[in-house]
Amino acid sequence: MVYCVIFVKQNYHAITLDKRDIGETDRLYTFYTLETGLMRVLARSIRKMNAKLPMQVEDFVLSHITVAKNYGRGTLAGAVAEEYFEELRINYDALMCVDIVRNVLLTIIEENDSDEDIFALLVEYLQKINALATQKKEKNISQMQWITNAFLMNFFALQGYTFDVSKCCVCKNSLEKKRNGFSANRGGVICEKCFSGNWYCYVDPDTVKALRVIQTNRFSTLTKVMIHSIVHKQMKMVVGDIERWVMR
Ligand SMILES: [Zn+2]
Repeated sequence: MVYCVIFVKQNYHAITLDKRDIGETDRLYTFYTLETGLMRVLARSIRKMNAKLPMQVEDFVLSHITVAKNYGRGTLAGAVAEEYFEELRINYDALMCVDIVRNVLLTIIEENDSDEDIFALLVEYLQKINALATQKKEKNISQMQWITNAFLMNFFALQGYTFDVSKCCVCKNSLEKKRNGFSANRGGVICEKCFSGNWYCYVDPDTVKALRVIQTNRFSTLTKVMIHSIVHKQMKMVVGDIERWVMR
């Protein structure tokens, strides 16, 4: 008896988020695709090949991939890079930033849940970080961190997690210009009177202002904003608090 296995080839717009070596020569890639969202694809014998195909699916490359499927995950049948974003892969600070984003995406996004807005946001984020990495300026490190936090806040919003930063999310009163708190669990920024205990993040007026800038401006216009290191530190705490709350 002759068995005939039919493979269907499908094309995707993909951003490589992760890769893991399997066995002697194979590799499992995790892509974020426009068409199906997060997708894991096996690349058979890819570590034996010349450098051409692996280069097309390096970490954070935007590419057109072809996947051959009969059942299960499917295997990588081809890839052509559209944007390499090569500067961000050779810049330590840029890599630190995109690695934070990669980990959040891999933790929160489930397989086969596509969202074209998240895909577009991710492409725009990588373009911004790559452009900042290309300039090789010292002050661009804080810009990269700012863009990364702004990306994550936009990403959380697209996932349906939005927070009140215009007033106290508990008593609804206007925020005084002094240190307040933030709690993802309570729904946003909390005034001093409603703030109790020490498990929330502290947010100074400049951090609240930065959170408002992110909420009220398009991501594409955010590169020019300059913020200082305490704001970065507090934004990082806010993003971490949201991430923990989302994963609760
Ligand atoms: Zn309050």
